[in-house]
Amino acid sequence: MKLHEYQAKDIFSKSGIPIPNGQLVTTAEQATKAAQIINGPPWVVKAQVHAGGRGKGGGVKKAHYPYEVVTATESLLGKPLVTPQTGPDGVIVNQVLIEEGIEIDREFYLSMVVDRSTASPTMIFSTAGGMEIEEVAAKTPEVIFKEHVEPAVGWMPHQARNLLYGPEPPLTPAAVRGLMAVMANVYKIFIALDCSLIEINPLATNREGRAVALDAKVIIDNNAPFRQKELLELDDPREKDPLELMAEKYHLNYIRLDGNIGVMVNGAGLAMATMDVIKMAGAEPANFLDVGGGASEEMIAKGVEIILKDTRVKAILINIFGGILRCDVLARGLVAAAKKNEIHVPLIVRLAGTNVEEGRKILSDSSLEFLVARDIAQAAELVAKQVSGVN
Ligand code: GDP
Ligand code: MN
Repeated sequence: MKLHEYQAKDIFSKSGIPIPNGQLVTTAEQATKAAQIINGPPWVVKAQVHAGGRGKGGGVKKAHYPYEVVTATESLLGKPLVTPQTGPDGVIVNQVLIEEGIEIDREFYLSMVVDRSTASPTMIFSTAGGMEIEEVAAKTPEVIFKEHVEPAVGWMPHQARNLLYGPEPPLTPAAVRGLMAVMANVYKIFIALDCSLIEINPLATNREGRAVALDAKVIIDNNAPFRQKELLELDDPREKDPLELMAEKYHLNYIRLDGNIGVMVNGAGLAMATMDVIKMAGAEPANFLDVGGGASEEMIAKGVEIILKDTRVKAILINIFGGILRCDVLARGLVAAAKKNEIHVPLIVRLAGTNVEEGRKILSDSSLEFLVARDIAQAAELVAKQVSGVN
């Protein structure tokens, strides 16, 4: 679950990480008032959307006069913002954060993630702040510093010193003190809120060495909400893909991808294997839809409906290994979905396992048109053939 910048900054501020003074607005009138209350000029007017790269997409504007705060707000509110991280259609801006413009001496990058290879929370610090970290990692990996945390011990001051005494030019003692405090707080928040990511880019210091989080990105682990109930109200469904929302409602694991083959499988392992064979056959999946082990007819039907709603989908591959989810249940779900929605793209079905004969019979007795694949490799070939030449 992603948080908005303003929500993440609110958490930072309560935990002792300095942030610029700011106010969230949803109308031009509120922006006028905000410009009177908040220190400036300059002010920084920031679109609140879950996508990053807003700076590059025109979603972060500097204002030098109060009227510029208002016009910048108006130019963002209610309109789509396209950034390198959104699709070409962009995402609608519903809220804008107006902040005091902070005078920056140096900009840093700071984040905490779970490093799967060492199975530990890891602090990443870089002197190349304000830039995309992927780009920094590719071009100048020598300015990225990492510290793994032993979870039983927690974040230790010497680890902060390891990160802060490396960079060139050296940091001032005041900046080291400020950044050390930020690092300790980042770790505390990361653990307390079950985060999968905290990223501050840029984390700025001014000439006096005071550290301020200019940007804030926080992602809460999707398995944590049951023990982070207070955070649930921070969820903003407007930021989500409508098809992902629909999938969530029916307890389907759905992830949108970039290709044109709709994929429905049961089980994440089978999903990944299916993605692999589709790619090996030279095609690209449009989604990852795992109906799970115990899917009902209704869930199957909803899954098919979700795939059909995606206009990019040019063929559908259904790959089910009947276990707890029986092949006849899958077949009934498919038939039910076909009754409700016209299936206008080729459908390739590969069934195996429990009640497979019954499932096949239900499908062939129905008016559904589909191709049956013997095995997973043939399924991928068939589906790739259907979309070859189609864009
Ligand atoms: P992102 O592009 O979505 O990551 O948005 P950011 O919040 O990182 O803002 C983009 C850039 O705007 C930052 O890298 C900063 O250089 C700049 N910026 C943001 N807030 C301030 C501020 O208060 N003062 C100044 N001078 N620059 C700022
Ligand atoms: Mn940023």
